[in-house]
Amino acid sequence: MGHQSGSTGGKIVVALERISEAFRVLLWNEGKSLGLSPLQVQVLIFLLHHSDLEKRKVGHLAAEFNMTKATLSDAVKTLEKKGLVEKEFGQQDQRSFAIHLTPAGEGIARQTSHFTEEIQSPIESLPPDEQANLLLNLLSIIRHLNQTGIIGVQRMCFNCAHYGPGHEGHPHFCKLLNAPLKTAELRVDCPEHVPLPSGAK
Ligand code: SF4
Repeated sequence: MGHQSGSTGGKIVVALERISEAFRVLLWNEGKSLGLSPLQVQVLIFLLHHSDLEKRKVGHLAAEFNMTKATLSDAVKTLEKKGLVEKEFGQQDQRSFAIHLTPAGEGIARQTSHFTEEIQSPIESLPPDEQANLLLNLLSIIRHLNQTGIIGVQRMCFNCAHYGPGHEGHPHFCKLLNAPLKTAELRVDCPEHVPLPSGAK
């Protein structure tokens, strides 16, 4: 690629592209032996780690994975046919349902959730301050991609209503926990995250 010999920023973009390719290959390999698509594997792993009913609905999953509702519906239908998920219909609205893992689905989700180990391993061999810097920089990139509308749902400190940069002299502060956060403690997928009001990102 032409941009490889250019700026450092250009080379970092190429490096991120390689890592993204590794994610794709690892996910694909993980699903292949189980007869599952990469998206189906991602849905199972997401359900394993998110218990909030609102996050277990097709609309939320579609936003989470930047897919259409129709694509997510198809993935859920296939997982249901394979006996890996089941639906829980709302009492008020019978058309609305949350998706739960069956015991078989939970087993596969646990088995496949380690698919990123080969990416995590070299990161964890870095000194702690380099890991913290890497986290900070990646969060800044994700925030930009979120602000520009390229990627959807993000539950990280940088776009949380509880985040107070500079609060009480701390570079990062969580007003919910009422505590400063070290860089390494910044969260990427926080269960207590509250979205900023629209227009304040
Ligand atoms: S609630 Fe979670 S995402 Fe929000 S600032 Fe606190 S730790 Fe970060």
